[in-house]
Amino acid sequence: MVQPRKHFAQHWLKSEKALNAIVKAADCQGNDRILEIGPGTGILTRRLLPLVDSLLAVEIDRDLCKLLVKELGKRENFLLLQGDFLTLDVGSQLREFTKFQNQNKVVANIPYNITGPIIEKLLGTIAKPNLKPYDSIVLLIQKEVAQRLYAKPGSKTFGALSVRVQYLADCELICTVPAGAFYPPPKVDSAVVRLSPKQIEIPANDPKKLENWVKLGFGSKRKMLRNNLQSVIDRDQLTQLLEKLDINPQVRAEDLSVQQWVSLTNEVTVSR
Ligand code: SAH
Repeated sequence: MVQPRKHFAQHWLKSEKALNAIVKAADCQGNDRILEIGPGTGILTRRLLPLVDSLLAVEIDRDLCKLLVKELGKRENFLLLQGDFLTLDVGSQLREFTKFQNQNKVVANIPYNITGPIIEKLLGTIAKPNLKPYDSIVLLIQKEVAQRLYAKPGSKTFGALSVRVQYLADCELICTVPAGAFYPPPKVDSAVVRLSPKQIEIPANDPKKLENWVKLGFGSKRKMLRNNLQSVIDRDQLTQLLEKLDINPQVRAEDLSVQQWVSLTNEVTVSR
């Protein structure tokens, strides 16, 4: 057993049940090209390799990379890049490896300390969506973050992250995974989620504005939207706009649906 390192957020998944749920949610096809972030000791990698056309893995830990190369290096549909997924320019690394280019799915049990940045790199942002979106992204992450990803408007967990991610992708819970499914067990429970990037139905006219308003709108949790947005729009003007859109002017940020957020910023012609 390879001893897990704390500073790389290493927790080895040992539950068959969770592994099966991840593989099933990925719905692997023979022509799939998979990206896996943080393969660790390769427990998930070994499951996926026989099912897909190719699998590209990115692992930061040099010692684990040596081990993975030793164990899986001979498989012709496996390629490993050593590095930090957040800063690595995967595209340029793959110039000579055509079989591994254009991955269409992501399947990974990721390091929880960088969940937000990983999701942002995979989906892009409201203002700069990923131009070549994946067909699906199946991730094992911290349960509390998962809840925010698939939260519905009006619920306690619906926040800025929910709006930003749901603007770009449909999010669903596949299953929860208890801390005891890992070695060593993390301090929190986990969950498998599937993000399916989508065509944006009614896009924001000014995506930067939408991004900014969402950030400000959720700034102070218990305040009404018109108070949180005071720095960008006059309270009376916002009240009028909300009324025009048939939304209660006393609304709080967490009560607006993604579509209402878009309509709201699309309606504004003049703001501060
Ligand atoms: N997928 C394995 C390991 C999960 S632990 C399993 O299910 O058992 C998270 C993994 O991500 C570890 O292997 C860790 O070394 C790796 N990792 C941590 N930070 C990373 C980064 N910035 N880029 C790529 N891999 C990273």
